[in-house]
Order: sequence, then C-alpha cells, then structure tokens
Amino acid sequence: MTVRTRFAPSPTGLLHIGNARAALFNYLYAKHHNGQFLLRIEDTDKERSTQQAVDVIFDGLAWMGLTPDEEPVYQSTRIKRHQEVALHLLETGKAYKCFCTQEELADMRAKAQAEGKPPRYNGYWRDRDESEAPEGAPYTVRIKAPHEGKTILNDLVQGEVTVANIELDDMIILRADGTPTYQHAVVCDDHDMNITHVIRGDDHLTNTFRQLMIYRAMGWDIPNFAHLPLIHGPDGAKLSKRHGASSVVEFRDEGYLPEALCNYLLRLGWGHGDDEILDREEQIKLFDLDGVGRSPSRMDYAKLMHVNGYWLRQADDQRLVKDVVSRLSNNPDLILDQSHQDRLLTLMPGLKERAKNLVELAENSQFIFAQTPLSFTDKAQKLLTEENCDMLSKLASQLATLTPFTKETINHLLHEFAEKESLKLGKVAQPLRAAVTGSTMSPGIDDTLLALGKEEVLARLGAVTNG
Ligand code: GLU
Repeated sequence: MTVRTRFAPSPTGLLHIGNARAALFNYLYAKHHNGQFLLRIEDTDKERSTQQAVDVIFDGLAWMGLTPDEEPVYQSTRIKRHQEVALHLLETGKAYKCFCTQEELADMRAKAQAEGKPPRYNGYWRDRDESEAPEGAPYTVRIKAPHEGKTILNDLVQGEVTVANIELDDMIILRADGTPTYQHAVVCDDHDMNITHVIRGDDHLTNTFRQLMIYRAMGWDIPNFAHLPLIHGPDGAKLSKRHGASSVVEFRDEGYLPEALCNYLLRLGWGHGDDEILDREEQIKLFDLDGVGRSPSRMDYAKLMHVNGYWLRQADDQRLVKDVVSRLSNNPDLILDQSHQDRLLTLMPGLKERAKNLVELAENSQFIFAQTPLSFTDKAQKLLTEENCDMLSKLASQLATLTPFTKETINHLLHEFAEKESLKLGKVAQPLRAAVTGSTMSPGIDDTLLALGKEEVLARLGAVTNG
C-alpha cells in the first residue's frame, strides 16, 4: 500500500499555523513512508473561497517547501460525484429523504431540549414513505445512523477512542439545494483520492465518527486517522492574534525563515530525544506519528526566535541579500542597485551573526543603502560630539590617502591613529561607526569600512565633519 496523505484546507484567507503544522506532518509522514502528499482545496463556501484566499494557501505551502505530489483537487468541482454517492446511498436504503421544514426542525430541537435530551434530529422521515410528503416539497438527504453498539476508532495519535452509536444522529449529507455537506464531501474525496492516512487537527475528532458512517454505508475501506493536538498560546488558551503571530504570512512578515518555522512546528508536539535542530532531510528520516504527543502544545515565541537565529546563521548569504532588498524596497530613499547589494553581500557574514530575524537583519543592513546625510540613532548622535567630529576629520584625511584600501591596511591605520591620538581603539571606532552607519551596531569596523568602500566612507565622514 502506498501511503497517501492530504492537506485539505478551507480557503479562509489565512493559513493558521495549526493548519500549517498539519500540512507539515502530512508531508513528512508521506515522505517518510515513500508515499505521496496531496492537496485538496475545500472551496465549497463560494463567498470565502476567492482566488486570493486560495493563493494564500499555495504561497504558504510553497514558502514552507511543502509541494504536493499531484495537482490540487478543488472540492467544488466534485459536487456531481458527491451527489452521485448520496443517490447511491438513497437507492441502497442507507440514506433517506427528509422533508422536515425549518419550523419542524426547530420544534424538534426545542422539544428535545425541554426533555433534557441533546437537540438532535429524531429520525422522523427515516422509516416514512416519501409519498407522505407534500408534492414537490424540498428535501435533504440524511444518512441512517446506527442506533446500537459503539464505534471504535484506533487513532494513530489519540489511541483507542470509542463513541456509543446512540450519540450519532441521522446527519444531512445533501442539503435541500442539492449541495453536499462538509462531512459527506470530505469522505467522498478522501476515498476517491485514495487517501490512506487522514492527519488533521483533533478539533475534527467528532467529525470522524460521523464520517465513518458514510464509509461504512458505502462499504469503502476506512483510512487510518491521526488527530493532532491543537497549538495553544503561551497561556494555554487557543492560539490567536493576541498572543502574537498566528498565521504563516505573519511569521514570514515578522522575519522568520521557513526552515525555522517548520523546524519549530515539528518540534512542537513531536519529539526525537533532545534534537532541537533538524533539517528537512532529517525530519523526513525521523518523523513518524508515534512520536506525536496527545496534549496541546504551547507556542513558545522565544524558542522559535532562538531556532530562527540558528537557521539565519546557516542561511545562504545571497538569499539573505535578496530578502533584505525586498524588505527594504519600499523605502525610496535607499539605493538598492547591484553595487550596493554587492556591498551587503560582503558584510552579510557579520550581519547575520548579529540578527535574530530577517526584519532585524534588514534594519541593520539599511545603512549600506542609505544616502548622505544619514539619519542617526540617538546613541549614534550622542557619539558625534564636536571633539569626536574633529577627530574623525583628522582620521578622514588619513583614510583618503590609504592605498590599497584593504582590511589589513584599514586595521593598521586605525590602530596607529588611535595610538598617536592616545585613544583606545574603541574611542575611535565607535564614533567612526556612528558616522558611517548612523548606528552603534554593525559588523567589525574594518569590514564595515571595506564594504562601504573608500569613497563612500569619505563622503559619510565628510557629511558629519563639515556639518
Ligand atoms: N477543510 C477542513 C478545515 O480546514 C479540514 C478537513 C479535513 O482535514 O478533513 O478545517
């Protein structure tokens, strides 16, 4: 049997990280077992399912490197098939037409509640002949739920879960307008897509028992199920905006790398000893559902940031330059041309050591693209005293004649200069850094000067010493 998993999001306009993690687990499980990972867009809610909302899913999955092995299936294109299955269930007596009006259903619910019973459909039309219904009356199609016994699910994460069949009601599979319900469509699609493992959030656990009725009624093989615990916020409440980023786009905008988010989401709720950092290849090699815990995981943003710092330092410099440039591209005052990007590339090893995320990296890189006069942080401004500016002016005239302008010659000059001025090196380097970067944080001063180039360094020094 080839393992086939699927991610089946409804396009809501965002990809919540709980869903993103389900996608990751489906992907890893399939790859671990040499199987296939599929994508189904559950777009039956036409109003919400705009192209834009669908693209959010495509973009999020592509960003996380979770490429489906087949073309995505759009649930909305399969309505005829869903109707065909419902018809088959009607014909085989496994389902029936229900002609109850909205008022009748409301009365039924009220009555059940008054009797202290769950507000369920009472099976009124289950054994009634449709000739009793008014001519042309609209109807829904309901499945006949088993009345006795129990249903046992051997969930690959939750273990054995049992529900007494009396808890299940004759749920609707086709609405009066002929459209399938979610429960029905999911089963038809999972069956037709030959899904062997349904891995999804444990908020779907009760749905599974309802969906099993359809598998049984159709005589279809039942896939394996794995219900993943949800992700909670640091305070234990359901993760939401107020805790911080909760959707994939937000994490991307806040400067997390996809490999960091995936690494973190995997480790959140799945364990493999003390291994904190795992690349995709190791994830595929090690992942299996038996390592998934049963209790909800708590989002730990500090830990994610730590993992992000690790992956940032591993990331390819050229890729980081591209990211920084795109993050800075909406600032019209910056010169983002190739030669400035080349400067950033030479400084990237030092810059990425000092940043925790891509937003910070972009901020710290900004000085490279800035035009004189720079804007200065408060701390930098404080360093540019009259005395320091005089010192920098003197230094500028020496730098002007420095050839070749290399890391070694720059270092040599700075040391010599500090000694002659009876200053500690830091007393020269800090104002110098402030003058050429606008801040007090940058990679080594020698690397910084070298990356900017002599001409630019002199222009920036000139802007503060003449000002
Ligand atoms: N479309 C459902 C959702 O986004 C998921 C269905 C499933 O995984 O079975 O919650």
